[in-house]
Amino acid sequence: MTKTELLYEGKAKKIYATEDPEVILAVYKDQATARNGKKKVNVAHKGTLNNQITSHLFNYLKANGVASHFIKQVSATEQLLHKVKMIPLEVVLRNLASGHFETKFAVPHLMQFNRPIVEFYYKSDALDDPFINDAQILALEIATEAQIEALKTKALLVNQVLKQLFDQLGITLVDFKLEFGLTSSGEILLADELSPDNMRLLDKKTQQSLDKDIFRKGLGDMIPAYQEVLHRIEDKEQNANVLS
Ligand code: 5GP
Repeated sequence: MTKTELLYEGKAKKIYATEDPEVILAVYKDQATARNGKKKVNVAHKGTLNNQITSHLFNYLKANGVASHFIKQVSATEQLLHKVKMIPLEVVLRNLASGHFETKFAVPHLMQFNRPIVEFYYKSDALDDPFINDAQILALEIATEAQIEALKTKALLVNQVLKQLFDQLGITLVDFKLEFGLTSSGEILLADELSPDNMRLLDKKTQQSLDKDIFRKGLGDMIPAYQEVLHRIEDKEQNANVLS
């Protein structure tokens, strides 16, 4: 399948139409951004790493009962996706306190929650993605009550599956951000990407970050950490294949 018209260019990906109106093609870019694009640099290999990590994780989620827009990886930087109408919400799930939760409520770093927290943010670069609650989502007619509940349920399920996977890889899944879209028949599908760009991952042994916090906090080169995440996922898959 070949790409045709450029439909959208975001901070980390370009989205193209294809000859099939129901299928789009995502090209992962070698660009890292933080603070809503205010900090932006070119980072070689980031696109291929995030494409591969996302492809592995969407395949893993599918095998564990979580449907997504992902069809298949088609090249080092490209993947084919079902076209969906994006819901303008960032769905953040937190297992441990970090980032905005830690600073907003002045709680200890990595404070453990009794149960995972789901939060919504309204996707708007102009407004800096503000926090939004259920009543505000309903007032702005972004989603219905049933859809809000479905988003929460799906985020919790993604967490259950990924947390277990990362535990096996010696990695703590601290928090992550998901985005969802609607198919033409109204089904809610997990969309966007699943990479160290939108999740916080900590090496269980060293407590080192294996995610974009390295870039956000200016702690050095993010690429070896992203490679480490990919290698651990691939090693686990190879072992699973050898055993099966
Ligand atoms: P926080 O709200 O603490 O900044 O982020 C919580 C989690 O969601 C982190 O794993 C972070 O990577 C992810 N996240 C939140 N907002 C964004 C965003 O606008 N872009 C990306 N890529 N990830 C986000």
